[in-house]
Amino acid sequence: MKHAPIALPDPATARIERLERQLVRERKARLAAEVIAEDGLRALYESKRYLALLQRITERANKADTLVEALSFTLGEICAELGWDFGNAYLVRSMQEAVPCNCWHVANPEHLMPFVEASRELSFARGVGLPGRVLAEPRPWWIEDVRTDTNFQRHDVAIDCRVVAGCAFPVMAGSEVVAIYEFFSRKGIEAEPAVVETIAQIGIQLGRVAEREQAREALMRDALHDPLTTLPNRVLLHERASSAFSRLPRNAKGLAVLVIDLDGFKAVNDKLGHHAGDCLLVATAARLRDAIDECVGGESVVRGPTETPAGTRNGIARPQATLARTGGDEFVVLMENLRDDRLPQTVAAQLHAELDLPFSVGRDEVTIGASIGIAHSNPHYRDYDEVQRDADLAMYQAKASGRGKTVTFNHALGTAVRMRMALERDLREAIRDNQFVLHYQAIIDLASGGIEGFEALVRWNHPWRGLVPPGDFIPTAEATGLIMFIGDWVLREACRAIARLHAQLGGTRQDNSGRLDNRGTPGADLPFVAVNIAPQQFLLPDFVPYLRGVIMETGVPPSCLKLEVTEGVAVLDAERTRRVLENCREIGIRVGLDDFGTGYSSLSYLHSLPFDSIKIDRAFVAALDKPKSRKIVRTILDLAGNLDLTVVAEGIETADQQAALTAMGCGMGQGFLLSVPLIEAEAFDLVHASGPVTTDRPPSS
Ligand code: C2E
Ligand code: MG
Ligand code: MG
Repeated sequence: MKHAPIALPDPATARIERLERQLVRERKARLAAEVIAEDGLRALYESKRYLALLQRITERANKADTLVEALSFTLGEICAELGWDFGNAYLVRSMQEAVPCNCWHVANPEHLMPFVEASRELSFARGVGLPGRVLAEPRPWWIEDVRTDTNFQRHDVAIDCRVVAGCAFPVMAGSEVVAIYEFFSRKGIEAEPAVVETIAQIGIQLGRVAEREQAREALMRDALHDPLTTLPNRVLLHERASSAFSRLPRNAKGLAVLVIDLDGFKAVNDKLGHHAGDCLLVATAARLRDAIDECVGGESVVRGPTETPAGTRNGIARPQATLARTGGDEFVVLMENLRDDRLPQTVAAQLHAELDLPFSVGRDEVTIGASIGIAHSNPHYRDYDEVQRDADLAMYQAKASGRGKTVTFNHALGTAVRMRMALERDLREAIRDNQFVLHYQAIIDLASGGIEGFEALVRWNHPWRGLVPPGDFIPTAEATGLIMFIGDWVLREACRAIARLHAQLGGTRQDNSGRLDNRGTPGADLPFVAVNIAPQQFLLPDFVPYLRGVIMETGVPPSCLKLEVTEGVAVLDAERTRRVLENCREIGIRVGLDDFGTGYSSLSYLHSLPFDSIKIDRAFVAALDKPKSRKIVRTILDLAGNLDLTVVAEGIETADQQAALTAMGCGMGQGFLLSVPLIEAEAFDLVHASGPVTTDRPPSS
């Protein structure tokens, strides 16, 4: 077989071919290198872009006051830089629901608006839809095609609007999702790691804004709210009230303030401890809130510091109430947009009704009440402080009128209360500076004319008003509790004074027959001193030991101390009064019922309460010339005789009155005819002048 000869390439051709192959290889390598360089450049360029985007957003976020402000800027920046058509944000409510916050950005609105509208309106529960998935599992979520996604709530409208790609990211404050932001595009966008990483990083920056906002809100809350009840405090109330006052119409109507001061809270605090007191305050706050809600139609609000004031519906301002705790046991209700002036009264009545029901505090059941003062705005007020001041005055008046009262302020009341407050201030000074003096009015045995004892009557030696009679200050002293200090001074001073008289008389006095007293009781034949005791004093828990202390200290024989109380003690606590009367009797102190006949139920007390004597009120004595009065006095005397009670008639001004009383068998008398109240020295001179007592005193029961 013949083989064709192999044609060997000439050396030149071979070289050319080699060079060509080398050239192709080099071109390929160069192209590859170029591609690599280009990719690197692009990656570098993109990472720089993302970095710049992150930087811009971080800078703005640092300056933003609120998360929503930072979000709205962020949405715009991301859409512009990363090519999304629509960005939208949700805030997370109670960690359970993503709710739209009207924070969105549309870069390209064409054909997209129905989808935008749907996104602005829908809320998403945990796990539902794209935002719900972020809420349930906080990480970036990317949907390359929403049209094929099975958990996408806006599926239909997305198809209509030709939305394709979507993604959503969490904004975290600590470990909590506080917001979610999402983006959509009408073209496919792949989840490039660098993009995902950039948006996630932005989320971290936004989280810092949220944390800052939360910290600021907590600070505001602490500064403006009462930590115990979480109600607005005095500062927030004042802020709101002042701004409501400045918005009042020309006639200044529509605003009212209720000042609520709890009655009997201090006693609970003292008795059951501060923890119980705190629990009671929290429970009270809740009841007050319920009562207000009921009256204002569930529109009472305890608004947060950033929320807007009183709302409107259909352009008409609705009545609104803000409940605040302004002091230990003091609450204030600010009412705005009032159209019916009676609403504050209704609210007050409802508050009383709520507080009338007992509270369970631990194992105890306690009942407290409240005194409420109301003031309505009017054109004379220059600022809110003046309205609140008058509501305070009205509350002060309510408190003075007894527990559980409501008083609405008016001009006359303002004057009276201001005078009373000034009186209270002066009384405190009087107690501090010892401005009280005692006068003594003789109590005479009507048959013999001998002095049996004296009634100590307090007067206020006022620095410029002169001697002020007790009727002008005792009621205020009783209403403010100052009577405890005054009464204590009176009791001690009266005992010291009568002890001085006893010392002057040289101990036990003998009658004409030379016998010692008819009962053998030490001091039973010495003049006694009768001291008026206010109900609060008499009902003091340690009243009897206290009396014993005063007697020991002053050296007065117990039988020479007589207490005069009014029916008030029985009205307040009849059972306690009975026990105190029995204890007094055991130690030999006598107690008489003063002003007998003025209270409408006096007779009933006489049977059940062991008094030693009664004092017929001067009103009956003054009217003795009238048959009806005479009849009453006779009946009182008969009754007293049956019950073995001593009777003193007070206010004897005429000889006829004295004669009539003596004829009816009244044992003792007191009055201007017999002796006016005198200073100590003059009063006791009467005893010295009258000489020894000539008749026996009737035995005390
Ligand atoms: P009271 O206990 O009924 O005292 C009798 C009052 O009648 C005294 O008035 C006395 O001055 C007045 N009086 C005496 N005789 C006559 C008379 O013939 N005609 C008239 N029109 N009045 C006469 P006063 O001193 O102004 O005391 C008034 C009330 O003040 C007392 O009434 C008593 O309720 C209260 N009070 C006086 N001192 C004290 C006190 O130390 N403590 C307390 N809690 N109350 C006191
Ligand atoms: Mg009296
Ligand atoms: Mg009297």
